[in-house]
Amino acid sequence: MTLSFDPETLAFPFYHVIDGEPVAAVGDGGPEMRRPSDGRAYGECPVAGAELVDRAVQSAKRALKTSGWGDARPRERVKAMQRWADLMEQEAVTLARLEAASSTRPIAQLIEGDIAVTAEQIRFFAEFADKEGSDVVPTSGTTFGMTLTEPYGIIGAITPWNFPVSMAGWKLGPALAAGNAVVLKPSEMTPFSTLYMAELAVRAGIPRGLINIVLGDGQTTGNAITGHPDIAKVSFTGSTMAGAAIMQNIARTGIKPMTLELGGKSPQVVFADADLDLAASAIARGILANAGQACVAGSRLIASEEIAEALSAAIARHMANIRPGVTWDAETQYSPIISRRQLDRIDAIVRKSVAEGAQCVVGGQIMERPGYFYEPTLLVGVDSSSHAVTEEIFGPVLTMQTFHSEEEALALADHPTYGLAAGLFTRDLSRALRITKALQAGTVWVNRYGRSRDHILPTGGYKSSGIGKDLGREAYLASRKSKSVLIDL
Ligand code: NAD
Repeated sequence: MTLSFDPETLAFPFYHVIDGEPVAAVGDGGPEMRRPSDGRAYGECPVAGAELVDRAVQSAKRALKTSGWGDARPRERVKAMQRWADLMEQEAVTLARLEAASSTRPIAQLIEGDIAVTAEQIRFFAEFADKEGSDVVPTSGTTFGMTLTEPYGIIGAITPWNFPVSMAGWKLGPALAAGNAVVLKPSEMTPFSTLYMAELAVRAGIPRGLINIVLGDGQTTGNAITGHPDIAKVSFTGSTMAGAAIMQNIARTGIKPMTLELGGKSPQVVFADADLDLAASAIARGILANAGQACVAGSRLIASEEIAEALSAAIARHMANIRPGVTWDAETQYSPIISRRQLDRIDAIVRKSVAEGAQCVVGGQIMERPGYFYEPTLLVGVDSSSHAVTEEIFGPVLTMQTFHSEEEALALADHPTYGLAAGLFTRDLSRALRITKALQAGTVWVNRYGRSRDHILPTGGYKSSGIGKDLGREAYLASRKSKSVLIDL
């Protein structure tokens, strides 16, 4: 079967999911949706108000009560979630088409990457349900102490548009495995795959109402979720600016725990002894994956002066050879930009940098083709105060700065605001460990860039890149609260 398809054959129904049923969208008139690959408009995302969000919360409450999901034998949770993962694999093509037609994710990458990995992650989290328990703690001979862990109840989840299936999986997997219900708001720009994942969950036997999906924007729907008194915890992935707004809303409406996975401006540091072919290819992938629209995009190359010229030439070759195309073509390697607005923003940052004295080794232009494509771009002649170096561009723009010493490399790598991820290329093991310890980042990749199927490792940011972790055992544990109990015998 060929994976390529005609997006005109797909309908994009907008609906919310409450009690496991589609709920017709009322109050249309939200943001207009356009396909990134060709700019075609195809509808407006409805915006759920406070009343609809409350219906979703009440549904979650009822579901927790009637299904006993949080109290039931944990093995039942494991089995239902495993069936859900199986269904995601069986329905991968439908899921991928819904996603590819409306987002920036190319269909082949969705099938081999996002969807396959998400199914595995759901199994990974499901397995915790009957393997992580409460702890007996050491006490005196006359007392008995333990920490019980319990689900929070209802978790409010909010996801971005850049990897819609993966982000929904990161939120739903640990929350459900840990015994919670979820009210999830996908990005208003890419809701369709999340809606379909919720439908598959019901087919897999996950009780109706445990996953409720409400469509809408951040201002109305997002605020209604984060400020709802019956939502016990918030799990958010998106920009640092929205994360700050969520913290304010939570402070105003009632304190509750939150996990925030936010923006980044991650460095890729290359020493002169590195394998340059390997580094060039990893660095190009690190900035060109999803056309740089990844939180961990390695957008700042920091190269030893000795090898900078050879390295930039090798990266430029990789950049020139990547194949752009519509997301519904199975041959496409290089993604469009999510919207016209974001395309113009990327272009404006690059133009400003060039006006300030930067030079483009490659790229620097909007591509002349339908849709919103930006050329893979390598900027040199920038310094740490350049807009292109300080700002999360969220596009295929790599800046290069050079260093002479380890100290200088570390000073350049350190970003004043962000600390999400970092890459490091060297053959010297001692140096690799020394630099890894010094880098202020939640993830450090050595002689590679980007994650693969390593969901066992938690991910999250230092500094303003976030609070708490997604993935790994930490994400499961963060979906439960603990209660200390001391009994006099
Ligand atoms: P965004 O912050 O604009 O939106 C993310 C989600 O938050 C959307 O669903 C949006 O509707 C909602 N939202 C916006 N304002 C809100 C508010 N005040 N209250 C509640 N919800 C609100 O981000 P985006 O443009 O969709 O995604 C790109 C950003 O996400 C980048 O900054 C990127 O680095 C970040 N990101 C981080 C990670 C990570 O793991 N750290 C992963 C993916 C994306």
